[in-house]
Amino acid sequence: MRQNTMHPIPKNEFTDVKKMYGIVSGKGGVGKSLVTSLLAVGLRRNGFEVGILDADITGSSIPKIFGVSGAKINSDSKAIYPVRTHNDIRIMSMNLLLNKEDAPVIWRGPLIAKTIEQFWTEVGWGVLDYLLIDMPPGTGDVVLTVFQSIPIDGIIIVTSPQDLVSLIVKKAYNMAKQMDIPIVGIVENMSYAICPHCGKEIDIFGKSKLESIAQQLDLKILGKVPIDPELTKLCDEGEIEKARNLYLDSCIEVLKKEIAE
Ligand code: ADP
Repeated sequence: MRQNTMHPIPKNEFTDVKKMYGIVSGKGGVGKSLVTSLLAVGLRRNGFEVGILDADITGSSIPKIFGVSGAKINSDSKAIYPVRTHNDIRIMSMNLLLNKEDAPVIWRGPLIAKTIEQFWTEVGWGVLDYLLIDMPPGTGDVVLTVFQSIPIDGIIIVTSPQDLVSLIVKKAYNMAKQMDIPIVGIVENMSYAICPHCGKEIDIFGKSKLESIAQQLDLKILGKVPIDPELTKLCDEGEIEKARNLYLDSCIEVLKKEIAE
């Protein structure tokens, strides 16, 4: 696990996690939570023990995507415990701690960062192969603090085609470089569309810039997720674990190799 001698990263006594990855994006709305969810489902289908720490406190959507909003959180004098999805993915999210799913979290940055740190230090995650962290969007203060308070092994950058055009992705890249956090690679979401009638692939944003930017920044391309109406529906219904196509096989292979090393 990554450590930093300048800022010792807090430990979690109740947890044994092999690998922790932050899923980041240069800005909100690119499908970071969906990509986190697809990776969790894929790793679980490969037989791994998987958890999702939903650090996107103000835009929390993981419980909804997995249909566990409103599930009861258990705790004892030692720790609080994540909820488990149908297929046994462990989830901790601010959304699960609020009485009302639609209550806004109107906290300032330091409190949000502290809560995320507690989702690491005070949650009894148990024994996990992978803990995926759905990071707050963007490259602001909170993200910086999370990098200093959770021993993340690497980050996965999620982008959209527009993001690649405006080079917002470079911000996330530069931040990780400055913080000395390894970048596993990049996933393009909404890369193309799948026609709901005939299933044909449509290049709605023109030719993707992914290859050229990945080459320029020396980033590994981990996968491309299309706009797939089935995924939208499954997210809305809280049934993402039923997805037929996860589109991220190559990313999952990379993560499997990392754990084997
Ligand atoms: P972010 O975490 O970046 O804010 P989300 O992952 O929460 O974005 O995406 C918001 C919603 O957009 C999802 O719940 C889903 O309904 C829809 N969505 C995102 N990406 C796709 C996709 N590739 N195909 C279909 N729907 C998508």
